[in-house]
Amino acid sequence: MPPLLELVDIARYYQMGDERIAALDGVSFSVDEGEMVAIVGTSGSGKSTLLNILGMLDTPSAGRYRLAGRDVQDLSDDERARARNQQIGFVFQSFQLLHRATAQKNVELPLVYRGIPARDRHERAAKALTRVGLAARMKHRPFQLSGGQRQRTAIARALVSEPSLLLCDEPTGNLDSATAEDIMALFHRLHDEKHTIVIVTHEPSIAARCPRAIRIVDGKIKADGPGAEVARGAATIALGGAA
Ligand code: ADP
Ligand code: MG
Repeated sequence: MPPLLELVDIARYYQMGDERIAALDGVSFSVDEGEMVAIVGTSGSGKSTLLNILGMLDTPSAGRYRLAGRDVQDLSDDERARARNQQIGFVFQSFQLLHRATAQKNVELPLVYRGIPARDRHERAAKALTRVGLAARMKHRPFQLSGGQRQRTAIARALVSEPSLLLCDEPTGNLDSATAEDIMALFHRLHDEKHTIVIVTHEPSIAARCPRAIRIVDGKIKADGPGAEVARGAATIALGGAA
C-alpha cells in the first residue's frame, strides 16, 4: 500500500520586502495509514506552515505532496476543497467552536456543509460525542464546558465526517497538564482504532508520547524516529527517511 501522505522536497517561501523567508526548506517524509506522528519544533520552526500544507489550506512554493495516492498540486480548487472536507479532520489549539451553538450543533456543522439530512446528522454527532466521552454534555454550549471538554467536542467534530487523516495544531496548548494527558490518552485510543493522526507541538513531552516524531528546525527536518528518542534528542534521521 502506498503511504497515506507523501511529501517530497516541499518548500514554502515568504517574500518580505527584499528578504525571502524559507518557512519550509526541502521537507520530505511519508506517513502510513494508521500512524500517530508528532511534528515537534520550537516557535517559528515551520510547524504550522507544514500543517497547513498537509491540510491543503496552503500550497507549497516547490515540491510534491501526495495524499492517498493523488498529487495534490494537480487538483483544481474545487477538488482540493472536496478532498479536504472528505479526508481531513482539523483540531486546533483554540478549539474554534461556535460559542452560541451546543456541542451537538458544533459537531454537526461539517455534515451540514456536506448536505447530510438532519436526522442522520443528529445520529452521527451523538455517536462522535459518545466516542470522546461527552454523551452527557451534548446540549451544553462551549462556555458551559471545561477546556478539555471543549477540545473533546472539537475532536468529535473532526471525527464526525470519518476523515482518513486527523491534523492537530498544538491540541493541548491551551490545557493544563492533567487535561493534556487526558486528550493525549484520547488520541492514543483513536490511534488504537486505526486513525491516522499528525500532532504539531512545541512540547517534547507530547512528542515523547507519540510512537513516531519528526523534529523540525528552521524549516528543515532534523530527526525522524521513535517519539521518545526524538524528544530527548537521541534520534536523527532514520535510514530511508527524509534526506
Ligand atoms: P511555527 O508554527 O513552528 O511556530 P510557522 O510555520 O508559523 O512556525 O512559521 C515559520 C516561519 O515562517 C516563521 O519564521 C514565520 O515568521 C514565517 N511565516 C509564517 N507565516 C508567514 C507569512 N504569512 N508571511 C511571512 N512569514 C511567515
Ligand atoms: Mg504554529
